[in-house]
Amino acid sequence: MKVGKGFPVVGVRVVIVGGGIGGLAAAVALRAKGVQADVYEQAHRFGEVGAGFMLAPNSLRVLGRIGLHDRITRVGAPFTGVEICEADGTEVSSLSLGEGGEYTMFGMYRADMVDLLVSSLPGDALHLDHRCVAFTQDDDRAVVTFENGESAEGDIVVGADGIHSVLQQYVVEPNDPVFSGFAAYRGVMPAERVPDWPDGAVRDWSDGTKNLLVYPVRRGELINFVAFTAADERMRESWSAPGDPRQLRTDFGDGWDPLAREVVSQVDVTFRWGIYDRESLRQWSNGRLALLGDAAHPMLPNMGQGANQAIEDGMGLATLLEGVSSADVPGVLVRYQTLRRDRAARFQQGSRLNVALKAMGKAPVFGMPWMYDYDVEAEARTLR
Ligand SMILES: Cc1cc2nc3c(=O)[nH]c(=O)nc-3n(C[C@H](O)[C@H](O)[C@H](O)COP(=O)(O)OP(=O)(O)OC[C@H]3O[C@@H](n4cnc5c(N)ncnc54)[C@H](O)[C@@H]3O)c2cc1C
Repeated sequence: MKVGKGFPVVGVRVVIVGGGIGGLAAAVALRAKGVQADVYEQAHRFGEVGAGFMLAPNSLRVLGRIGLHDRITRVGAPFTGVEICEADGTEVSSLSLGEGGEYTMFGMYRADMVDLLVSSLPGDALHLDHRCVAFTQDDDRAVVTFENGESAEGDIVVGADGIHSVLQQYVVEPNDPVFSGFAAYRGVMPAERVPDWPDGAVRDWSDGTKNLLVYPVRRGELINFVAFTAADERMRESWSAPGDPRQLRTDFGDGWDPLAREVVSQVDVTFRWGIYDRESLRQWSNGRLALLGDAAHPMLPNMGQGANQAIEDGMGLATLLEGVSSADVPGVLVRYQTLRRDRAARFQQGSRLNVALKAMGKAPVFGMPWMYDYDVEAEARTLR
């Protein structure tokens, strides 16, 4: 029996392909439930682009239960409130957060979140330089083969290998990512460059065609920005490329709120990303193979839920797998699909709807009880 940082590990063995936030969080959740899980990542090191994401109440709840709450509060930036505004700063809607608010949310620097998850796993559960190239299974086991000639065998393989998932083709017919028509400039800067930024504030400005979202990460020491602008299909060829800060300042210049202009005036390095999603998948599992995170449900970032849904996936899967035997696995993975598919699809569709609502000058769907009050662990228990 292996022992993973504080948790005894028994029962089925899970091979996770992909060490992004989804795969790593799943490994931590599985080990917390006593299930052996190893992560195989294609890159030379674990890491994420220099950008942030919002950790929402629905995933914070379950991360807290596996002992990560204190560490999140030490590296995250607690939000005080969200203001959705027109380009000139006129408020469209708002949500109060933190003390005095209904919900708690944090701005997380992605690299901090990855470090936090990696350091919660035993070193021998993490395998870098393993690019998965093939998958096979029979009645008793599932096997993935890597480009380096090695293979890994488990009772279950989890495809957490992102929007370009190699493992997805073993579950559903090949399908193409759908281009949103938008690209996003992303980056962070030291908070002292924007001295007027209100403590813990999240601001989302939109003129119907362009959109600037800004919030603090890393205890408020860094300011994160995401700026969405129209892009053409050429972005398909290069998923991410250096962005031009001068263009960013022009796009969010005349007529924009002085605070928004203050932020973009301080940007000296930014990357630009083509924004894609996919149609919701009909199926999430095939025998001993299950999909998780963006491999299962890539969504537009307009509800801030892609990573949060990946974290829910991992906790749901771990709850369903706790104490099961190898023979139970295909049935459990069908229950995992039942648990997760419709909820994730609701966010995929809602994220597209938010793009349309913003284009009409209306407030996006955000901060709703169905998004944040959901308890994936409790829901999974009802399916056990
Ligand atoms: C602009 C923008 C803003 C966003 N903001 C938010 C937000 O505020 N909140 C939120 O919840 N979400 C947000 N998201 C979405 C979020 O970033 C993703 O949903 C999330 O990172 C997906 O995690 P993942 O682990 O499933 O996939 P990924 O992060 O793509 O990780 C996949 C991993 O698998 C590895 N891999 C791929 N192929 C192989 C292979 N063949 N073999 C081995 N390893 C492989 C990759 O190297 C990578 O490490 C945003 C996205 C964008 C673009």
